[in-house]
Amino acid sequence: MSARGPMVSGLLWVRVVKREERRCTSCGRARVEGDPAVHDLVVAPADPRTPAHIAVRTPEDELKVWCPACFGRATKRLRRVPASQTETLFDL
Ligand SMILES: [Zn+2]
Repeated sequence: MSARGPMVSGLLWVRVVKREERRCTSCGRARVEGDPAVHDLVVAPADPRTPAHIAVRTPEDELKVWCPACFGRATKRLRRVPASQTETLFDL
């Protein structure tokens, strides 16, 4: 498993992927049940930069399913936002 972002794994991953019917929350593309590509799906909070130790404490209904392409794009785009700006968002 790669360590490029927050990763939710195990039973929580299975529950969120099932809830979303193996569909990427971002692009809406669904994986076919039994397709090995299902295992490439990433379960992460809506802000994919959330560090792993916080991501695992995110309430289950706030976790999203990401396909690797969308997750990669989202983390790349978000990394350009200065960290101070994100902290303000979390203070809301
Ligand atoms: Zn996607």
